[in-house]
Amino acid sequence: MIAIFNYHSVDDSDYFYSVSKSVFYKQLSWIKSSFKIIRLEQLKDYLSHPDFNKNKIAIVTFDDGLADNYFNVLPVIKELKVPITVFIPPNLIGKKIFIPDRELEIMDLEKIKEMQASGLVNFASHGLDHKKMTSLGEVDLEKNLKLSKELIQGIFGEKGDFFAYPKADSNEEVRKMTARYYQFAFGGNGVILDNKNIDKYNLPRIIINKNISNFKFRLMLKKIPWKIKGYLK
Ligand SMILES: [Zn+2]
Repeated sequence: MIAIFNYHSVDDSDYFYSVSKSVFYKQLSWIKSSFKIIRLEQLKDYLSHPDFNKNKIAIVTFDDGLADNYFNVLPVIKELKVPITVFIPPNLIGKKIFIPDRELEIMDLEKIKEMQASGLVNFASHGLDHKKMTSLGEVDLEKNLKLSKELIQGIFGEKGDFFAYPKADSNEEVRKMTARYYQFAFGGNGVILDNKNIDKYNLPRIIINKNISNFKFRLMLKKIPWKIKGYLK
């Protein structure tokens, strides 16, 4: 099985998708002791791994590329030696995302380069400017997918194989178009328990937010392998 964790913000603020620095440190340590953590680029290999059902694999991702990732995530992943992938909207580099009741700062190019220099951080597309993909007409949708991929390749020197739908929002048409440009794309909440019936353009991630207590988080980590025991028989 493969559990792909999805964070947004690590910060001591009251933002729903923020976890505090101390909680993040604990959670990442627990993930590390319960799973083999791989890079997102290794996903393809592990999906077709002969021991897929027995393997306990985790991947750690962040959405939006918030500046707090640079200040509060980079030191922790360096200490724990955990690779991550950050899904970022390339048109918003160094700018702000406005959401109801707050504005969030996206990291600038200097921070991005420093994160890449750690050798632990890869960047991938989160849409050009964080618009909901289902709100775009066909021409804009294709432009958004294609251009954001080209920018991720050009600015970041990445392969550009992965996409995370802004707000986990997609439909059949969006997924079809995404398949023209990307190898994998991420949608809603869940864990990959099956390597045969997966939808490569709607892969699940475990979305972490403030409401997940330390107790609940540890229980969840224990439950993931427990849940698939019956499945293994
Ligand atoms: Zn987002």
